[in-house]
Amino acid sequence: MILDGKACSEQRLEILKDAIDESGLYPHLATVIVGDDPASRMYVRMKHKACERVHIGSVGIELPADATTDAVMAAVRRLNEDPEIDGILVQLPLPRQVDATQVIASVAPEKDVDGFHPCNLGLLFSGNPRFSPCTPLGIMTLLAANNIAVAGKHAVVLGRSIDVGRPLAALLLNADATVTVCHSKTPDIAAVARGADILISSVGRARFVTAEMVKKGAVVVDVGINQLDGKLVGDVDFAAVRDIASAITPVPGGVGPMTIATLMENTFTSAKRRSCDSV
Ligand code: NAP
Repeated sequence: MILDGKACSEQRLEILKDAIDESGLYPHLATVIVGDDPASRMYVRMKHKACERVHIGSVGIELPADATTDAVMAAVRRLNEDPEIDGILVQLPLPRQVDATQVIASVAPEKDVDGFHPCNLGLLFSGNPRFSPCTPLGIMTLLAANNIAVAGKHAVVLGRSIDVGRPLAALLLNADATVTVCHSKTPDIAAVARGADILISSVGRARFVTAEMVKKGAVVVDVGINQLDGKLVGDVDFAAVRDIASAITPVPGGVGPMTIATLMENTFTSAKRRSCDSV
């Protein structure tokens, strides 16, 4: 089975648009981008386009590539204080001179629709999530939409970044999976991966996951986005693994669209919570 993230996200965006229209709310998302990295600009454009589609207003703050940590934090604080703004997304990565940890911690936790603020990560890890990071939550949604049970399964996550691997491990654990997280210092990753009922790769290396690393019938989720011979590919050797896996996400059209749909859903959730708080 191909886990079609594009179709799933399209469906969710349609439902979300209707829910937003019915709510009478007009949620607003603000993006903050520093510098002119083409990939970051493309991701921000895609997010604004998705906002338009589901009737979420969007504001884009652009700062120069040489902006300081203080300047980025000042921009974030203005958005924190703006009553019109429900969600704030700081596009990562930030230029080297900007302290990303400080910037992320400066986002008001109740507007942190990316779910990276230490408060939100703490809530997620304590089993009471408020906002969960969009890529991991989008993966959980895609699994659920395809009736793939997680409880009692052995999930192996390749990668331990703060935006994918770590929060995904927490979400899987909260959903009663037994979770193993691998990283660059893990010996014999292939042997660990072969024990997975659900194998999720977020390493960022083309063809990292080979057929020898996948147990027959495993569910394989490919988070990676890599360029190979001018083409966009994931971490998984798709052609070799698809016949072994019981279900697999394609790249493109798998996890990526789910990330954006989840960001829209988190923004609407924030708007609903904020409208309740203001009553
Ligand atoms: P990251 O911060 O660079 O983290 C990569 C992780 O992979 C690290 O934990 C690293 O281990 C591990 N790793 C690297 N080389 C390895 C190796 N040879 N063996 C074992 N582990 C290895 O990247 P990220 O932000 O998590 O993103 C990962 C990939 O997902 C990228 O291709 C990115 O573009 C993609 N991505 C896609 C979406 C989407 O929506 N589809 C969203 C986010 C990211 P250490 O911690 O030991 O260094």
